[in-house]
Amino acid sequence: MSYNQLYINGQWLTPKNGQTFSSIDPSNEQEIAQVAAASVEDAELAVQAARQAFDQTDWSQQPKQRAVYLRAIAQEIRQQLDQLAEIEVRDNGKPLPEAVWDIQDAAGCFDFYADLAEQLAENQDEQIPLSDERFSSVVCKEAVGVACAIIPWNYPLLMAAWKVAPALAAGCTLILKPAEATSLTAMELGRIAEKVGLPAGVLNIVTGIGSEIGPYLTAHPEIDKVAFTGSVPIGKQIMQSAAHSVKNLSLELGGKSAFIIFADSDLDAAVEWIMFGIFWNQGQVCSATSRVLVEQAIYPELLKRLAEAAQKIKIGQGLEADVKLGPLVNAKQYQQVMNAIQQGKQDGVTLMSGGKRPAHLAQGYYVEPTIFMDVPVEHPLWTDEIFGPVVAIRAFETEQEAIQLANQSIFGLAGAVMSKDMARCQRVAGKLRAGIIWINCSQPTFTEAPWGGYKQSGIGRELGIWGLENYLEIKQITSYDSDQPWGWYNS
Ligand code: NAD
Repeated sequence: MSYNQLYINGQWLTPKNGQTFSSIDPSNEQEIAQVAAASVEDAELAVQAARQAFDQTDWSQQPKQRAVYLRAIAQEIRQQLDQLAEIEVRDNGKPLPEAVWDIQDAAGCFDFYADLAEQLAENQDEQIPLSDERFSSVVCKEAVGVACAIIPWNYPLLMAAWKVAPALAAGCTLILKPAEATSLTAMELGRIAEKVGLPAGVLNIVTGIGSEIGPYLTAHPEIDKVAFTGSVPIGKQIMQSAAHSVKNLSLELGGKSAFIIFADSDLDAAVEWIMFGIFWNQGQVCSATSRVLVEQAIYPELLKRLAEAAQKIKIGQGLEADVKLGPLVNAKQYQQVMNAIQQGKQDGVTLMSGGKRPAHLAQGYYVEPTIFMDVPVEHPLWTDEIFGPVVAIRAFETEQEAIQLANQSIFGLAGAVMSKDMARCQRVAGKLRAGIIWINCSQPTFTEAPWGGYKQSGIGRELGIWGLENYLEIKQITSYDSDQPWGWYNS
């Protein structure tokens, strides 16, 4: 399959400078495709196409019609489930069952926002009471305009869906910029958009190097909104870049989420959720519970069981049966994770399990599930987002200490707590400074529920109704209904 063209204004265009870059299968380090590297001129074409589709067509006025397109996209994604899941495995490295979840969730996301587009059609205007009866006011919600969605590589099609579906439901037109490591399913989404007849210019997809076209797009005066998911440093750059034209901005920037396990927890359940919380998707998850706090009474036993369980995880190519841990996404991420592990070892942090490339896998960006214990709170293993299968664990004595340690972070995306005492779970959940809290589990994510973080984890919320509101402006239309003169000048 070919990925050397850009999807702009309903057409497949070769980049102006003819350039491409390699997409690599992280399980064997072999090239799987040449991907179009958009230039600034191509990005400009995409902006103009989106601007024209927003300003000069009635796309933003037709919520019911938009719902029809969104449902058609959902259906087409489901029809191509097997093919899309396999592309995701080859491009990203994740195990096939997880890729299947992603594709199913992406389809579900388009259906969910189709429903919301229909509701938007029903309830567009809201009359609000005013303190002066001579006036009446109607509040309506309108599309924010042209949006630019910049997404990461950890859930390639799903992250596209989280932004494209609500933006289209709201009536925006947009430019989607996938991560260079994983562009393929985004381009498949372009083919799907074309197949279902989405009007030209409504969705434009430009693959390319983030540092080259990203700043151009995020500063562009004709883009009204930027939605970004990725690293904190790039998020900060985007804030600055978007500030020039005071753009509407939403950011999802990752985290270092804590999982507090109290001594009355079921140990088997604790092991299962700790492992899922940090090892699914190879730990390349913004909400991964990468810091685990265990009540002292069960600390030694839980660590022992966890290390045993981690060593049984099957590591390998994502299409192999029963594989739970695939390779990391690329050489850069592999090196970054290995450096963090190396630093931990050098500084004398106790390594309980893993910490190296699996002996049986000579090629590919594989890292063993890795557990560090008694991690000092000032160590980078405890404070920094590693974005790999590396968990930092330490013990606590009191509930108050656990909450204080959990909140001691520049991030606030997610947190989790486990105990049989539901009142305690609720109390702790209320005190954790994060946008997503799980009780007796970690990671399950629902399209209906808000997603986003406190502190440096970002601004705004995706998913649910909040995800739609990200792409809506609020307008008041106030009328003077009285026959009497207003009387400021002519009293
Ligand atoms: P990144 O932030 O560099 O890239 C994310 C997206 O931003 C990509 O599409 C990229 O092309 C684009 N981009 C890069 N520079 C840009 C710029 N100057 N302006 C606009 N867009 C730009 O993330 P990465 O290099 O892929 O990963 C680095 C780290 O980011 C990871 O190790 C991890 O810690 C974190 N990360 C977080 C998430 C998350 O879900 N929050 C996802 C992926 C990575």
